[in-house]
Amino acid sequence: MALIAVSKQQSAEAIRAVSGCGQRIFGESYVQEAVDKQAQLLDFALEWHFIGRIQANKTRQIAAHFAWVHGLSDPAHARRLNDQRPPELPPLNVCLQVNVSGESSKAGVEPAMLPELLAVCAAQPRLRVRGLMALPAAATDELAQRQPFAALRSLRDQFATPDCPLECLSMGMSDDLEAAILEGATMVRIGTAIFGTRAQCS
Ligand SMILES: *Cc1c(COP(=O)(O)O)cnc(C)c1O
Repeated sequence: MALIAVSKQQSAEAIRAVSGCGQRIFGESYVQEAVDKQAQLLDFALEWHFIGRIQANKTRQIAAHFAWVHGLSDPAHARRLNDQRPPELPPLNVCLQVNVSGESSKAGVEPAMLPELLAVCAAQPRLRVRGLMALPAAATDELAQRQPFAALRSLRDQFATPDCPLECLSMGMSDDLEAAILEGATMVRIGTAIFGTRAQCS
């Protein structure tokens, strides 16, 4: 189980404090904010995961400044990240975001389109497909929370191959991490439960 400390809208000092407790993996949602903080934390060997919404005009910076991207759902973005990944860096690890909670959330690829997206990503030599990611609509009771996570796991079971085992399930945030873990999460993305509430403006 990997813990991604989601540090969006948190200061470099706050990240430094959490890294002092042994945390190495940090998740960020806004490219410029992340790049600015990374520059202040160069003396720490941190692993940065981009968990925000991908915009085409930001892919070059994402490809250069992150080790992982969660939330990839557009084949055009996959091709851009591949082409723009700097040659001196290892392939970019990616988790493909799937819309497993129906009309309540528009982010992520529809399950029916996942095989096509997987095929495109697998053909990109500078990307390494690691697994699937979900960001379901908020639900309060655990059974309702578990349902989209179970759906993501079953898609993983359906589409995993020996060449691409989709070993990572990136799912679960502060309010639904228990449900995600019960359904087999391998990476949870936790912000407020680690850092407290976020600043209103970054
Ligand atoms: C902000 C965010 C998180 C963390 O949310 P918390 O509720 O603060 O734990 C996790 N995943 C994504 C994609 C996010 O944008």
